[in-house]
Amino acid sequence: MSEAFPRRNGRLHAEALPVERIVEAVGTPVFIYSASELAARYDALDAAFSAVPHSICYAIKANMNLAVVRTLVARGCGVDVTSGGELFRAQQAGGDPSQFVYSGVGKTDAEIDQALAAGIRMFNVESRAELRVIDARAAQRGVVAPVSFRVNPDVDPQTHPYISTGLSSSKFGIPIAEAVDAYAEAKALEHVRVVGVACHIGSQIVVLDPIVDALQRIRDLVIELREAGHTIELLDVGGGLGITYDRERPPSAAEYGGAIVATVGDLGCHLIAEPGRWIAGNAGIFVARVLYSKHNGDTHFAVIDGAMTDLIRPTLYQAYQRIEPVGPPRAGTRVVDVVGPVCESADFLAQQRELPILERDDLLAVHSAGAYGFAMSSNYNGRCRAAEVLVKGDRYEVVRTRDRFEDLIRGESIPEDLIR
Ligand SMILES: *Cc1c(COP(=O)(O)O)cnc(C)c1O
Repeated sequence: MSEAFPRRNGRLHAEALPVERIVEAVGTPVFIYSASELAARYDALDAAFSAVPHSICYAIKANMNLAVVRTLVARGCGVDVTSGGELFRAQQAGGDPSQFVYSGVGKTDAEIDQALAAGIRMFNVESRAELRVIDARAAQRGVVAPVSFRVNPDVDPQTHPYISTGLSSSKFGIPIAEAVDAYAEAKALEHVRVVGVACHIGSQIVVLDPIVDALQRIRDLVIELREAGHTIELLDVGGGLGITYDRERPPSAAEYGGAIVATVGDLGCHLIAEPGRWIAGNAGIFVARVLYSKHNGDTHFAVIDGAMTDLIRPTLYQAYQRIEPVGPPRAGTRVVDVVGPVCESADFLAQQRELPILERDDLLAVHSAGAYGFAMSSNYNGRCRAAEVLVKGDRYEVVRTRDRFEDLIRGESIPEDLIR
């Protein structure tokens, strides 16, 4: 059981606050984040790399709430962005663009211009075609863009196929076998400056071997590139460190950082790590209310007011997320499917899960919902996206209000003359 969400006197708390107290004021469904846990996790990873010059660049796509990002950047954390919208958010949260890296396989011209104007630390370039566009956009502004290539070491991260990114068959990055040629091309361009090498092999990685394997290959590449006359100051080791959703035993921050430093620490590079899930995942829960208990045939259902539109991981990745009642559990258990109101059979948060007997109005907490929860939410089925709350100690603040109906139609219009 996490420190951030302890059970006291039978009731689930967020730090020092009873979850029921927050729900009474804010309603359901709601995401609740622990500011102390976010900070502690950033600090732990920062400490894990303390033997070498390094930066932690939080992968903002995991949880882009301004207050969450602010909690991290206020401690000196950088940001890994993957779109113009994320770059905007990172700046709105008060992040320092000179601490931003920009990854992403499909950067548009407008996004490249935006990143050049902001003055980011480094573009992680994912194709030679992109390199040429960055060079051209930088030339037009009369600036020189700092670049590294995202290199695919062709290592299997042993995770879900949808979140494996470092295989030679993936759409990301460039194959390691083509890296030397790609860097030679970069060197010949006037408006890009090679500063480093980047790799990111996947997400929810719970064993160190693939990470170390990948970095051994990257290490050889760095040496080869330096021999070819390139300046490799930055080594971006990517993100992907996994967390415990169920019974996974991922390496600790210290073990992770230690293994990386042991593999590439002697290269003299400034290391960049891009954790998303590891920082935010277990710093958040999702709380929903039971609307109905029903059974069809032999299957029992708990129908809740949260759905796949709030938390799509169970549906998209067949992911397990631990669920427990917020209040004191009732006696007896039952195997249930925890489902939402959306008109899709894929709308479930758990299937065939043994839970204490549930009744109408009971509150359920879905754990490990701080990363890839709200960030992947949608308005499908005309659903208002959930509220988000940040807790510190015994205080809390609504850091994003629940969508109102007006939010659902923002930007839409009815062109009467086209319809009549
Ligand atoms: C998604 C992503 C990350 C973060 O992944 P986590 O598994 O959340 O740590 C880091 N770097 C890149 C390039 C990514 O696409």
